[in-house]
Amino acid sequence: MSEAIKEGFSQPAWPLRATTPPPHVSLEDWQDPGWQMRNRIRSADELSRWIQPTPEEVSAIEELSTHFRFVITPYYASLMDPDDPNCPMRRQVVPRPVELADAAGLSDPLNEVEHSPVKNVIRVYPDRIAFCVNNECALYCRYCLRKRMVGDEDWTMRKRELEMALEWIAATPEIRDVLLTGGDPLIFSDRRLEWLLKRLRSIPHVELIRLGTRLPVTLPFRVTDELCSMLEQYHPIWVNTHFNHPSELTADAAAACDRLLRAGIPVGNQSVLLQGINDSLEVMQRLCETLVRMRVRPYYVYQAQLLEGTEHFRVPIEEGMSLFRGMRGRTSGFAIPQYVLDTPHGKVPLDYPFARGREGDDYVVEAWDGAIWREPNPRG
Ligand SMILES: *Cc1c(COP(=O)(O)O)cnc(C)c1O
Ligand code: SF4
Repeated sequence: MSEAIKEGFSQPAWPLRATTPPPHVSLEDWQDPGWQMRNRIRSADELSRWIQPTPEEVSAIEELSTHFRFVITPYYASLMDPDDPNCPMRRQVVPRPVELADAAGLSDPLNEVEHSPVKNVIRVYPDRIAFCVNNECALYCRYCLRKRMVGDEDWTMRKRELEMALEWIAATPEIRDVLLTGGDPLIFSDRRLEWLLKRLRSIPHVELIRLGTRLPVTLPFRVTDELCSMLEQYHPIWVNTHFNHPSELTADAAAACDRLLRAGIPVGNQSVLLQGINDSLEVMQRLCETLVRMRVRPYYVYQAQLLEGTEHFRVPIEEGMSLFRGMRGRTSGFAIPQYVLDTPHGKVPLDYPFARGREGDDYVVEAWDGAIWREPNPRG
């Protein structure tokens, strides 16, 4: 990476910059989500039009093609540093030979298959579910938790299967919160998504509908005014997206989030803590502060799962804890996401223990600056 780009990485430009198409593509095509989907990169040859893939990357694309799909949108490719294999965007989506050398990784570390009362519904809490409505994404992230199903033909959701899951939700009155995920629910056409939302809204006990989507990051042009005015009809709708690095925060991405926000949809962000990508205090703080500037609330940061082919992404939990400990007091409270470990029993907060416990009549706490405070504490 050149010194100028390195400088750029540590000092993001605000206002954010919009991406520009390569010379042979018109701006109209570039900003057309259909064009982006049709022109996705699927081979080392196509990738080499955007970056200089290393020989390892080229052979990994071939060797891993039967393991996990390799697809990238031109928009996301334009964010990659052509000369630096350690570019944070590049590492998220371009395969590497080390993926084959992960002895511990599992295909379904959260045992989601066993927590599935009906196909494509995952239930670990009494009141809410993750509903995997499709198996497609605009691109495929190398650390994806749903590697076992995304991009896999066998998991292609037919309407009949969606109907069966909807029937299960309708027959299960405890479910008040439905999280549409996948894959990516915004891969659906507006019409198909509206059919699904209409069906969910006809179930009186479903109070909340959430969409988990990475398209504001990987294909922001999909978030059109038409989509947002459709979504608005089915409130309350909440969206969580998935930015991992400040360089993903372009003007295009910010505009996509802004359209959702203007439609009254609260937008949150979930990241995965990834070694060498966002595991420094500096990068994480800049990501979260810039998100807040976009009015997107950092919600969760996930500990990377014990997932096949992802050992090189995992960060020790103690390091993650001290990273988020470091943000406390040094930035706006709502810029600090909760660091969580997902388990087969649900998400577990990995909070730094600021609350130390009782000593005599006091409760002892550690403040952000390290000061110890004793708060007189009534006995219950
Ligand atoms: C993450 C998740 C939810 C939602 O959890 P919140 O903490 O409410 O955001 C629900 N069901 C499953 C299976 C999940 O993985
Ligand atoms: S966008 Fe989400 S579901 Fe799709 S590949 Fe990436 S992490 Fe997996």
